[in-house]
Amino acid sequence: MPFASLGLVDDLARAVAARGYTMPTPIQSQAIPAILAGRDLLAAAQTGTGKTAAFTLPLLQRLQTRPETRMPAGRPRALVLAPTRELAAQVADSVRVYGRHVAPRTALVVGGVSMKPQCDALRRGVDILVATPGRLLDHLSQKTVSLAGVEILVLDEADRMLDLGFLPAIRRLLALLPRRRQTLLFSATFADPIRQLAGDFLHEPAVIDVAPRNAPADLVEQQVHPVEQTDKAALLGRLLSAGERDATLVFTRTKHGADRLSRQLEREGIRTAALHGNKSQSARTRALDDFKQGRIQVLVATDIAARGLDIVQLPRVVNYELPHVPEDYVHRIGRTGRAGRAGLAISLVSADEMPRLHAIQRLLGRKLPSSVVEGFEPNPAKRARAPVAAPSASARHHHAHRAAGASTGERPAAHRPARPETTAHDASRRRNKAHHQTRRVATTGDRA
Ligand code: AMP
Repeated sequence: MPFASLGLVDDLARAVAARGYTMPTPIQSQAIPAILAGRDLLAAAQTGTGKTAAFTLPLLQRLQTRPETRMPAGRPRALVLAPTRELAAQVADSVRVYGRHVAPRTALVVGGVSMKPQCDALRRGVDILVATPGRLLDHLSQKTVSLAGVEILVLDEADRMLDLGFLPAIRRLLALLPRRRQTLLFSATFADPIRQLAGDFLHEPAVIDVAPRNAPADLVEQQVHPVEQTDKAALLGRLLSAGERDATLVFTRTKHGADRLSRQLEREGIRTAALHGNKSQSARTRALDDFKQGRIQVLVATDIAARGLDIVQLPRVVNYELPHVPEDYVHRIGRTGRAGRAGLAISLVSADEMPRLHAIQRLLGRKLPSSVVEGFEPNPAKRARAPVAAPSASARHHHAHRAAGASTGERPAAHRPARPETTAHDASRRRNKAHHQTRRVATTGDRA
């Protein structure tokens, strides 16, 4: 059993096997022995690499194999800090799943929900506390928790915590922890602020870098569809109802945009919910639950709300709008094609977003395949670069004929890798219902 050969005790190896994992992922193979040996760790690993188990399993074992010192009320032995409520909840779930045979006392302390049940749980005593920084500080000021007994600290998605402005909170929290402790820092990147944090708080850490920086999982097929901004909702509706009605996570840039789009999709009969920071915690939990259980097909989310979401077998991610920060593109598409499964990432890109697309392509070091969906041709007059002349009526006819013939018997998936087509389309085609139904795709080469 390869997990056992990493030094995990039987109780943990069994829990892993019960989840169906046969082989450790690269981050697990490297991190687990180092953590078990008591070392500090600095690990570059994105969501989807198996990083949660990489720290949860050895953390459980460290607590288990040390002398059983039942901590008094409100004094956890291990603290995991995560940037968002959803991510913290997922870590707490993992602790329960992997710890089923060792039964650690776990508490989740996040904002947006009542303090009272959290206080009760802390008072009963916890081994492992999973928290977001803000709410943990609230508890500290109310003296419902003490960090004086923390033996192991995990900073999960540290880069995102810094992005979200949690650096002062983290420094305040770190000052309250015992100096003698084990610290594990996970981050998608090793940017300078992360290195500085590591330099200040880690002691001779083992350094692990499993994925090259900003490299999305190889298994994600990426596709760009240039489209008019005003046509995006209709195109999305089309993509969502085409083919196999795959579960899809859709990204918008604003909370308001997420709400509006989700209402629009509902009107088209697509089961949808929006996930963002203005929703109550119970609405967010319900939306995520409905999505995971397949009761809704589409989750429309903002970057922050979606960060770190662990949804197994998410086949498709759609960028309804491109993010301003190119790195966020990589985070977004990391939601699909996880842990060895293939995924598809589609970006709907309007002319004014072309500079953002170029920035993303520069970051990735390559051009993304781009194709225009028939019926949704961007208006040539509004294209950012190299407008293409509208075809003559006879060329249109010729193309329509070929397209209809070629599509016979094919799966009508607009997001399949498109075969090269040279004919440009006229926007008026969009109004032609017959063409709407052929769901053909034509590449525009590198016009994007
Ligand atoms: P994470 O990077 O922690 O968000 O994990 C990504 C996904 O990979 C989660 O759905 C895990 O359940 C799954 N996973 C973690 N470890 C393994 C493994 N060794 N083999 C297969 N799947 C795994």
